[in-house]
Amino acid sequence: MKTEKPAGTAEPRASPASDQGQRVFEGLAVSPGVAIGTAYVRESGDLQVVEYQVAAGKIEAEVQRFQEAVARSQRQVGKLQSKAKRIHGTAAEELGFLLEAHIQMLKSTSLIGGIKRRIESDCCNAEAAVMAEIGEVAKNFAAMDDAYLRSRGQEVREVGLRIVRNLIRTTYSSFGHLAPGSIVIAEEITPADTALMDPQQIAGFASVLGGAESHTAIMARSLGLPAVIGVTGLIGGINTGDTVIIDGSGGRIIVEPTAKCLSEYEAEQRALARETKSLTRLRDVAAVTRDGVEVVLQANLELPREVGQAMAVGAQGVGLLRTEFMFMNREDLPGEDEQYQALAEIVTGMAGRPVTVRTLDIGGEKISSALGEHMVESLNPALGLRAIRLSLRERKLLDAQLAAMLRAGAHGPLRILLPMISTVSEVQDVRQAMVATAKRLRRRGVEIADPLPPLGVMIEIPGAALAADALANVADFFAIGSNDLTMYTLAIDRGEEQVAHLYNPLHPAVLRLIQFSIQAALRARIPISVCGEIAGDPRFTALILGLGVRELSMTVNALPRVKNRILGLDMQAATRRAEVIMDQYDSGRIAALLDDFNELGVGGL
Ligand code: PEP
Ligand code: MG
Repeated sequence: MKTEKPAGTAEPRASPASDQGQRVFEGLAVSPGVAIGTAYVRESGDLQVVEYQVAAGKIEAEVQRFQEAVARSQRQVGKLQSKAKRIHGTAAEELGFLLEAHIQMLKSTSLIGGIKRRIESDCCNAEAAVMAEIGEVAKNFAAMDDAYLRSRGQEVREVGLRIVRNLIRTTYSSFGHLAPGSIVIAEEITPADTALMDPQQIAGFASVLGGAESHTAIMARSLGLPAVIGVTGLIGGINTGDTVIIDGSGGRIIVEPTAKCLSEYEAEQRALARETKSLTRLRDVAAVTRDGVEVVLQANLELPREVGQAMAVGAQGVGLLRTEFMFMNREDLPGEDEQYQALAEIVTGMAGRPVTVRTLDIGGEKISSALGEHMVESLNPALGLRAIRLSLRERKLLDAQLAAMLRAGAHGPLRILLPMISTVSEVQDVRQAMVATAKRLRRRGVEIADPLPPLGVMIEIPGAALAADALANVADFFAIGSNDLTMYTLAIDRGEEQVAHLYNPLHPAVLRLIQFSIQAALRARIPISVCGEIAGDPRFTALILGLGVRELSMTVNALPRVKNRILGLDMQAATRRAEVIMDQYDSGRIAALLDDFNELGVGGL
């Protein structure tokens, strides 16, 4: 977590400050640490396009899918345009012309209309139609005498490939071919891309697009990959093969660093490694405050391979298992058996410590190509058919997940968590589905969790926080998702770099909703935890605990530092400070009160 910088203060800036060839770029510091390596600038080529015939009755839907991809491409280029305006000099002008040309092509009736006609007349899939059309247009350009016009062929290709990427949604191929120590530089890195990054091979990454609390940022933190995102001027400023430093805490990217700069960062890397090593000593130490209050610390898991790390840092369970990993980077849906195998392995790996499995939270910025026909892109994906809404509409999807969870629950303690709940009836519907699934499995003689797992609710929509009393009547536990709660309360897209500076969990409105939910849970005597990113940032620990929470779930890498913070904390003082903070109406004052309190704190080690 970005402990050195308060959330949302990183201002993306294009500052290719030069020092003997050294160039520096700045962006959002989203995943701490220092990575030093060789740049791999991901280009837009190399797409694997499959061709297939589309049945006559489905042509209209295929054209619709194509149009959605075009609209998405227009939005992406529009965003790049507004970022380009903030770069100075001739590079900005050139980039501006280029992007304007791309926008025009995306609106052009000859290109877009040509592709549409191909889908309709050849009855082929949209990807194949795009490739055929851009192939032909590029060929025509290549045959022209004028060098400028010839070069436009390449632009048509770029635009076409962008549309195809948006059709396929699995943006690019894997990173398997990269040499160890590579640093990935790209226009956009999706959560699905990040899931393919092996930390043994990828040292860190940086991208032009993305916000601080996007799932890509969360995945980077959980993989321990230093990352900076929302960086203006990145593409074109770095070449594959350049030496690059990613300063994931300071939000800086240094290209071709001077010898002095390199040795300073190498020293910082060594210091961080020493600190991390010293914190491993805390593995078996209970998270107890100086005045004797015990706090339960659990892990948020994105990928099954993190189970070993969770055990290694002494996590007392899994407070949030995001099941999206099973649906990413594939074209088909995982069946009940496959999901059961994956979950059972995690439950077994956690050796008797509870595992909280969340039902699918796809939608919004988390896209899955596997869900294909089940998901139609909405104009406002964050407010659309997301998470539990999708599960309740696609009952087969929900039933398969519930069955897999119930079966995995036979191997150890398991809880089921529901994302994006807004009403009581959604919880009741899922409970009914769970009971029906359990009956069906028992009839088949399949071993399942007994008693049935507790059913919990994510409090991550302002309406859910305000109706927490009602939800506490139907839920067995609450988990506060501060990431979405902040986003929906402040109307700030967590994945949008342009408004990242406004994303602030310390806004009094967000804190009041958190406090309201905690009080409802305490009154109803149901467990409550915080599993949003603030749980893993020692900056927020005193405040969350001061508000009455005794369970935190966070990315594995953050756990030792949060535990260290708890060991140095006086709960009574934290509670008093939380009371003072809750009387404030200015988030700047709240931040100052919290930071002052933290500075007085005594470290645990
Ligand atoms: C949250 O919204 O705070 C949360 C934990 O869920 P996710 O980040 O997966 O949306
Ligand atoms: Mg959420």
